[in-house]
Amino acid sequence: MTIVINMRDGLDEMKISVAAKLILDGKLVAFPTETVYGLGADALNGEAVKRIFEAKGRPADNPLIIHIADFSDLKILAREIPKEAKLLAEKFWPGPLTMVLPRREEVPHVTTGGLDTVAVRMPAHPIALALIRASTMIAAPSANISGKPSPTLAEHVVDDFYGRIEAIIDGGETKVGVESTVLDLTSERPTLLRPGGLPLEDIERVIGEVEIHPAVRGKLVNVAKAPGMKYKHYSPNAQVVVVEGPRERVRAGIAELVEQYHSKGLHVGVMATEETEADEFFYLGNTTEEVARNIFRALRELDKRGVDVIIAEGIEERGLGLAVMNRLRKAAGYRIVRA
Ligand code: AMP
Ligand code: MG
Repeated sequence: MTIVINMRDGLDEMKISVAAKLILDGKLVAFPTETVYGLGADALNGEAVKRIFEAKGRPADNPLIIHIADFSDLKILAREIPKEAKLLAEKFWPGPLTMVLPRREEVPHVTTGGLDTVAVRMPAHPIALALIRASTMIAAPSANISGKPSPTLAEHVVDDFYGRIEAIIDGGETKVGVESTVLDLTSERPTLLRPGGLPLEDIERVIGEVEIHPAVRGKLVNVAKAPGMKYKHYSPNAQVVVVEGPRERVRAGIAELVEQYHSKGLHVGVMATEETEADEFFYLGNTTEEVARNIFRALRELDKRGVDVIIAEGIEERGLGLAVMNRLRKAAGYRIVRA
């Protein structure tokens, strides 16, 4: 039922044309982008897009991002293209930036979750761009069952969707590891709805100060502007706890928690930037970029190793750290321990 198309050794136009034909036939194809793997369908085919929601178990009011390969395609999707959008596209596309713009009538309601806005980005991955160019604009959320950690390897997509979608293109590990930054350009001031692979600081250098939606750092809020934010997210089967605070204290805080959980007879996993005593350990890396690349993989792998609880090291909310902490806090259902 599902064909796995191996493109680990790079772009293969023959194989791309097979996958493109599936998209044009209204089928589902998972493919790599620079952020995470996407579960793609023809963005303007409402029936095809509906199947994405069904396959993921995604609530119908959680809108999808449309992926384009040429800036001129934006005119087909958006009623207006504000000057900030042009500036940002020039600077950061292709790349991990999604912009929310006023929607044109031609975009099916199902794709935008019933909103009159549309989210668009141009991915910086040769396979994604080739697939779009050989088919059409592609609506694609992350290729995971709704609520689970996003996929950064084709194996993760196989785990969630084998036998349930038509094809999975294996392009190896994704480079960025967290999803795109979502910026709303339909409000009075540009507003960050979701931190992601493009640091906020980079955006502000181009268009000046950006508002930050309260849900980015804080609790779950139920608002129409940020539709994805009210749902459970990124959660493995194990309970996740994040330890936050100054670096030196976080290390001690993690060790203390490991002790506590051990005394309750639990099997404990730790994901951190320094080797830590635990039943299972996942090394996150040295730089913020490495940590971002590894967090979803760490959550999935520790889960596979059968731990009851995952203790995650909190990092500074600078650069990609803002996206990392947003994902970790959600994965933890906001169970945060201050060290
Ligand atoms: P995913 O592709 O699974 O990472 O989810 C895409 C996310 O993009 C959603 O959860 C929303 O937060 C955001 N998004 C997509 N379309 C819109 C829109 N029209 N307005 C605001 N946010 C959007
Ligand atoms: Mg997602």
